[in-house]
Amino acid sequence: MSFIKFLGTAGARFVVMKQLRASGGAWLSVGKTNLYIDPGPGALVRCLHSKPKLEPSLLDGILLTHKHLDHSGDINVMIEAMTEGGFKKRGILFAPADALEEDPVILKYVMGYVEKVEVLKEDSEYRIGDIPFSTARKHQHRVETYGINFKISPHTVSWMTDTKFFPELPNLYRGEILIVHVVRLKPIGDGPIDHLSIEDVKMILKKAKPKLAILTHFGMTMIKAKPWVVAAELEKELGLKVIAASDGMKLDLERDLKN
Ligand SMILES: [Zn+2]
Repeated sequence: MSFIKFLGTAGARFVVMKQLRASGGAWLSVGKTNLYIDPGPGALVRCLHSKPKLEPSLLDGILLTHKHLDHSGDINVMIEAMTEGGFKKRGILFAPADALEEDPVILKYVMGYVEKVEVLKEDSEYRIGDIPFSTARKHQHRVETYGINFKISPHTVSWMTDTKFFPELPNLYRGEILIVHVVRLKPIGDGPIDHLSIEDVKMILKKAKPKLAILTHFGMTMIKAKPWVVAAELEKELGLKVIAASDGMKLDLERDLKN
């Protein structure tokens, strides 16, 4: 079965620091390929405590959308776990250049454990085993950040990671399943917060019209508003299927999206 398992749904500093939600990122499994996305703080623990257990030594690769700590906190230990303590050189690491070069988040000695490093760039195509994917345009997010379009079947999946809203955004992610990082309930004007609010997500969903939208990466204002309530309101208003991810939620990627 192809699936995504959410090992964390926390977004931004306070929800992560206080662990109001877990912050372990997500495990994507398609056919025979396992790819870890954004191993934030707690990723290893969440894998091993998952039921059934997710075994990091079965990973084929790890993908980092950007180097912020809530996405990369466990990257080193996850690489070590993937490579069985560094004794089995294996796996592909996908990451933007600024996570690898200047002020890198991956230790040099750990980098030597992976078989291959692929640098994520704008509008580029990649493949790991049964998972072909592409990046879109660089996000507006202070550090180098890329969202991903997974070209998998039977449903394509778009992963709209952290970004400030920009007008082209809805057109870049046209997956049948759209996963959106929505940190804030309300926008805060032209402030320095490089994150989407529910107002932004409304605009995005109206244009992108996915068959299923999944909200995740919640900040404090979203947690207080109860993400499942916000998702139900969006679903009613837009006439699209919208769900809020929860820690440990497993999404069957072969499901019939009409149900
Ligand atoms: Zn970020």
